[in-house]
Amino acid sequence: MKLILLGPPGAGKGTQAKIIEDEHGCVQLSTGDMLRAAVAAGSEVGKQAAAIMERGDLVPDDVVVGIISDRVDQPDCASGFILDGFPRNVAQAEALDKMLEEKGLALDAVIELAVDDAILVSRIEGRAAETEGGPRADDNVEALKKRLEVYHQQTAPLIDYYGNRGVLKSVDGMAEIDTVSGQISDLLKAG
Ligand code: ADP
Repeated sequence: MKLILLGPPGAGKGTQAKIIEDEHGCVQLSTGDMLRAAVAAGSEVGKQAAAIMERGDLVPDDVVVGIISDRVDQPDCASGFILDGFPRNVAQAEALDKMLEEKGLALDAVIELAVDDAILVSRIEGRAAETEGGPRADDNVEALKKRLEVYHQQTAPLIDYYGNRGVLKSVDGMAEIDTVSGQISDLLKAG
């Protein structure tokens, strides 16, 4: 199964990706996690990305497209993958289309987690307070507002991009975690 999880920061993409990973045996590919690992490792990509991520802006498209392209070629992705946090704008979606075509792969579904902005702010504030070993550098209200703004301007157009192709499915991301994962499971079974 090859999926995209689409939704604003704090919508629960990471949580749901992990559940789908366990249930369907496909790998979660989170560009945010990969970029944070690059920052922690102090690699060239990490050095380029750190300040951009901290203020809530998007890392350059060629960087994330390159990361995903390399990752999809790894053997563990042969059983399927869940893209979490990628694509994040139309240029990335177009690059993904081209990449999948070149690799002879096709998406099964794009799942939108629909969430209310006001609830997101309180979720992220909670996450900032709960995180052990210090919060993420971008889990503060200022960076979150920037991430939400970037989501609405650049990522939300992907709802139409995939909707127009008939591959988009939407679930209520404000429901309980188990309810959301149940809805996703049902959608995936329905095909
Ligand atoms: P969230 O969904 O909570 O905003 P992510 O972990 O998905 O968090 O992303 C954190 C940050 O990593 C983003 O604000 C951005 O700076 C960077 N990032 C992640 N994915 C991408 C992407 N596909 N394109 C550009 N930047 C990205």
